[in-house]
Amino acid sequence: RFLPSSHTCQLILASLFAVCSSLAKDFSQMSAFGGAQLSCDVAIVGAGLSGLSAAQRLLQARPDLRVLVLEAAGDRVGGRTLTKPVRCADGESRGWCFGGSHMAKSHSRMLQLAKDFGLTVSEQPESAGKNILEIGDTIDRYEGETPNLGTLTLLDLDKGIKSLDKLSKTLMESRPSWTNLDGMTLSKKIEKETWRQATRQCLTAIAEPCFDGEPDRISCLQALRIANSAGGFLALLSDGSELRIEEGAQAVCTALAERIGSDRVLLSRELMQVSATEDEVLTPPLAVLSRIRFSPELPAPKRGLIEAAGSFAASPGWMTSAVTAVLTYPTAFWRSQGCSGDILSHLGSPVPGSAMPVAPIALAGEVTSPDGRQPALMVATGYTTEHSWPNAEARRADILSHLARFFPRPEVDGYVDYVEHDWGASPTGASPLPPGAAVGLCDSTGLLQPTGRLHFAGADFATEWIGTMEGAVQSARERPMRCCGGWRLDSEQYKIH
Ligand SMILES: Cc1cc2nc3c(=O)[nH]c(=O)nc-3n(C[C@H](O)[C@H](O)[C@H](O)COP(=O)(O)OP(=O)(O)OC[C@H]3O[C@@H](n4cnc5c(N)ncnc54)[C@H](O)[C@@H]3O)c2cc1C
Repeated sequence: RFLPSSHTCQLILASLFAVCSSLAKDFSQMSAFGGAQLSCDVAIVGAGLSGLSAAQRLLQARPDLRVLVLEAAGDRVGGRTLTKPVRCADGESRGWCFGGSHMAKSHSRMLQLAKDFGLTVSEQPESAGKNILEIGDTIDRYEGETPNLGTLTLLDLDKGIKSLDKLSKTLMESRPSWTNLDGMTLSKKIEKETWRQATRQCLTAIAEPCFDGEPDRISCLQALRIANSAGGFLALLSDGSELRIEEGAQAVCTALAERIGSDRVLLSRELMQVSATEDEVLTPPLAVLSRIRFSPELPAPKRGLIEAAGSFAASPGWMTSAVTAVLTYPTAFWRSQGCSGDILSHLGSPVPGSAMPVAPIALAGEVTSPDGRQPALMVATGYTTEHSWPNAEARRADILSHLARFFPRPEVDGYVDYVEHDWGASPTGASPLPPGAAVGLCDSTGLLQPTGRLHFAGADFATEWIGTMEGAVQSARERPMRCCGGWRLDSEQYKIH
């Protein structure tokens, strides 16, 4: 409820995930809590990784700036990073990540932040053994990286992956028709590049978690953008994500907020409206942006993109509707079954007695503590259903039944603790992009460009590692952002012009 109260409003930089901008006149806010007025030079909307690291950078460059970070959530900073306590076999509770957690060795900005705050980054203990791929009624247990799909399907898969890789790598330079690519779903593209049904199902199973959405609903261009930002589709598939922060990724946000100063990070402050008086125009990002009123209206391309993202926001995806659960166990029983704990499931048949049309788990993996002493699995539910469970108990029962399809029931049921987080219950505002919307993130009229003094940042607006924690930090710190007579953010530091 921040209503810029008068013509003194200079600018707001909002972004679902961060914002920056500047100038030293007052930006006045009228708080719903007693009408108190707050003034700042730069308002940053969202206390996730992106917003907090933007604030830190600004203050490093100009400690005298009056920077405020406004966060809608009432109880915490961190956004899509979330650490919760889970009880372990030794009776102690330890923090586990339920949102962003894994990093690749190339995620240098996140690794540097962890180092700056004295957090411990460790490698996921190697879990040898077979991986599980479930497609429909078929369950494949395979060693290494190549499922047992048969020679013809594997050749077809290889061809499909390579062609997506090539297209994604050259997306920005050779500029294939972005509009055509944005006019089709990723599934349509997969159909064009492959000829076997089994290949298409396998590629769909792989693509869902990579691109945060169902391939038959997301824009092919958006998927290619995401792959491009990671160095290509193959790089996205093969770049390990084997590192984790022992204290949990949310600890980076907590440390950033402490460094910035608690008086500068305001919780329970949801930006509802951005108004410009005189000559300034202000804005914020994607699905959440569609809930914010802009006065005057944003330019047409930005408005269109925001509306498209907003209308798609209820669509299934990692960040919108998945439930993540951590199960701690006395022993890593999956290993004694010769398995790594990695499960990828696409449209697995429903578990007996469930009201859900498909099996619940889309993805599972071992998240045993770095010292190897506290065995744990993380599971994430799929995107493939708009149905929901009647209650958390029914969901837990289905998840356990699904795991018991692969491992002995007594071991599966013998968990020490089961803790989950329903990302759909507290919407983050993140959204996969439907066909027709992503072109606005590629071209120069899109949201990557500031509007006046309003800048957009956040994981969705990264140019490297879109959709990840690394991307969230990169977008806030390194994309050049300019605003009339104000700030420029470049790869080194914020400079005043
Ligand atoms: C289940 C899950 C698993 C993931 N796994 C990984 C992983 O393993 N590795 C990885 O790198 N990434 C992963 N991610 C993605 C990663 O967590 C995010 O990309 C990153 O944390 C996003 O940071 P951000 O600052 O851009 O946005 P967010 O963290 O979403 O922060 C945005 C903030 O803005 C606030 N906000 C929104 N609207 C308003 C408003 N109107 N007014 C005020 N505040 C507002 C929100 O409450 C939120 O706190 C995962 C995400 C999820 C959900």
